[in-house]
Amino acid sequence: MLQQTTVATVKGYFAKFLERWPTIQDLAATSQDELMHCWQGLGYYSRARNLHKTAKIITDQYQGIVPNSYEHLIKLPGLGPYTAAAIASIAFKEPLIAIDTNVNRVLCRLFAISAIGMTQKEQVQDVANTLAHTNHSGALSQALMDVGSSFCKSKNPKCDDCFLKSNCRAYLQNLQNVLPLKPLRPTRPKRYGHSFIMRHKTQVCIEKRPEKGLLASLYQFPTSEFSSEQTSVQYPFKATWEHIGTVRHIFTHFELELTLWETTVSNTNHGLWTELSNLGNYGMPTMFKKALSYVKT
Ligand code: SF4
Repeated sequence: MLQQTTVATVKGYFAKFLERWPTIQDLAATSQDELMHCWQGLGYYSRARNLHKTAKIITDQYQGIVPNSYEHLIKLPGLGPYTAAAIASIAFKEPLIAIDTNVNRVLCRLFAISAIGMTQKEQVQDVANTLAHTNHSGALSQALMDVGSSFCKSKNPKCDDCFLKSNCRAYLQNLQNVLPLKPLRPTRPKRYGHSFIMRHKTQVCIEKRPEKGLLASLYQFPTSEFSSEQTSVQYPFKATWEHIGTVRHIFTHFELELTLWETTVSNTNHGLWTELSNLGNYGMPTMFKKALSYVKT
């Protein structure tokens, strides 16, 4: 949950999550719809889907017990090198260093690594391998994380207060504000889409997104494909459509501008309909919750 998300945001979700699914087996047995509903508002929904898949694998293939080696952990959905190394070293004392952004920054500075991109990653990993030779490497990973968050901050590192300064090559060469070097960030491309809000009395039409891809298996108002250029609107059927607003949302890899159209229909014969007041029971991404604020209740 904490991936790309602050502790303050996660706190409430985490407590409710553990209350609802206290064991891995409970999580494995739940429906994806219920999980998505609980996750709505946290974003990065692939984390929830991966947690669910991993809970099922651990239940079915590992008798409900989390595997205790990096080699097995790294194969579980949603676990990358950092998380697998963190679990393996902290919980199971495997000699590995968990390299997150903080640890990467600290090691780049301590060893004055001036490479960039993949080369930087490889050099940091080499240094980490030389440090990870005891069963205390879990504690070392956590200590490096703490140095990164307490002293070796991204901006204005507190070198004067840092107990590592006499051994820190960046500090000794006055490079602490230069390292680690960062690749130039490409600008986020823009995409455009149209969303159609069909109403009948107090009901509204929704649909489920495909099981794979962006915002998979979540619910939305019927919506066009997202395109890289602003295109003229293709209404799903002939009616009087009113433009009620535009929603902007930033995804990791692009920025979306969603134009909202609303109409009233005479029956609910086609599609999935629900009371407006009941929408909270469906897992809807934040973007469509923003859209909801334009709908007159
Ligand atoms: S001396 Fe400065 S740059 Fe070096 S580890 Fe400490 S805070 Fe980071």
